[in-house]
Amino acid sequence: MTGAVRSAPAYLDHAATTPVDPRVAARMAECLTQEGAFGNPGSASHAYGDTAGALVEAARAQVAAAVGAECGDVVFTSGATEANNLAVLGVAQYYRVLGRHLVTVRTEHKSLLDPCRELERRGWRVTYLVPDRGGRVDPDEVAAALRPDTVLVSVMHVNNEIGVIQDVEAIAKLCAARPHVRLHVDAAQSVGKQPLDFSGAGFDLMSLSAHKAYGPKGVGALVVSRRRGVQLQPLMWGGGQEGGLRPGTLATHQVVGMGEAFALASATLSQEVERIARLRERLWCGLEALGGVLHNGDAAHSVAHILNVSIEDVEGESLLADVGSSIAVSAGSACNSALREPSYVLRALGRDQRLAESSLRFSLGRYSTEADVDAAVAAVARAVTRLRRIAGRPPGPSPAGPRQCRSLGERTD
Ligand code: PMP
Repeated sequence: MTGAVRSAPAYLDHAATTPVDPRVAARMAECLTQEGAFGNPGSASHAYGDTAGALVEAARAQVAAAVGAECGDVVFTSGATEANNLAVLGVAQYYRVLGRHLVTVRTEHKSLLDPCRELERRGWRVTYLVPDRGGRVDPDEVAAALRPDTVLVSVMHVNNEIGVIQDVEAIAKLCAARPHVRLHVDAAQSVGKQPLDFSGAGFDLMSLSAHKAYGPKGVGALVVSRRRGVQLQPLMWGGGQEGGLRPGTLATHQVVGMGEAFALASATLSQEVERIARLRERLWCGLEALGGVLHNGDAAHSVAHILNVSIEDVEGESLLADVGSSIAVSAGSACNSALREPSYVLRALGRDQRLAESSLRFSLGRYSTEADVDAAVAAVARAVTRLRRIAGRPPGPSPAGPRQCRSLGERTD
């Protein structure tokens, strides 16, 4: 072979997906071939089925333990998209005689907002709360939006674009005072980043995804509180698996992968968060020195692994194209990138169209290094200098010159 070998861009898009941890992949591989646990976990008449069934139940226990739920609460699905659909449509259908009103937030994931829109088409009413400029929802506003016919409140825990953490525990307390209101929490981005205590917090339902936490794509769960007596109408009917809520043969290898990934995530959470917070600080300091770089979201209430910034005086699409050969990042969420429209999350925070378009979401992970962060800062610096020159703006570092980086933790915006 001739010519220079082009090294792979540094991967800083862990909120879109994570690589499967090799320890997880090894456990998954044990469930596939003839020598392994390939049996149908629903086959109760022989040892092949029993072996696979026992692995599924062990994984269920791992998932439950990682999020503070009871084993019997965990319903495996194909991911958080399906879990969000099952929660919204399943609760709305089951409790329709009690009321047809839902409360959610404008900055939720599309897999939550789209089923709400579908319910509106079918005659339900939905209140979409607007967060403050930092992306947080005031629990009092949730309380104020509740009506006698409200059957579901759905608020995400960690936002996938800006990393902002909602006070879902406070929201759970106020929902608990109204027995007809169920609370669903989309926690797809939380595992391994922020502790979760499903039962202790008093949530009714919670969505999870394996591939955001070094598990495989195509598996997730809806946690449904039995203790709180939550009922759902299923979206599909079939062999009665997962208590009839999610029929279909369970994918043993996927479920086992999710269990292992979640167990690792819990075991490493505090160390990982500390290390990643240091990397994010380094990234922020490097970017802030460029001048005209605005942090999106309430820094005091954000997870460590996501940093979302808007950059002044650059054109968004060119920015992403310029940095793309050196780093893998996204503008907004991966799910919206095909739509090529400015992030509705940043627009809901009050960012104007230009700043929403010139945003970058960096998301750090288990294998991210200082070298990745430095590559990101260098790539963005190059792109910003070039694009500002084209736009006729003063290039390079802030016109105010080099300055002390104001740590993200010290910021109040
Ligand atoms: N909710 C949130 C907050 C997410 O970030 C995602 C993934 N982008 C989903 C739901 C959907 O998860 P999945 O890919 O497992 O369907």
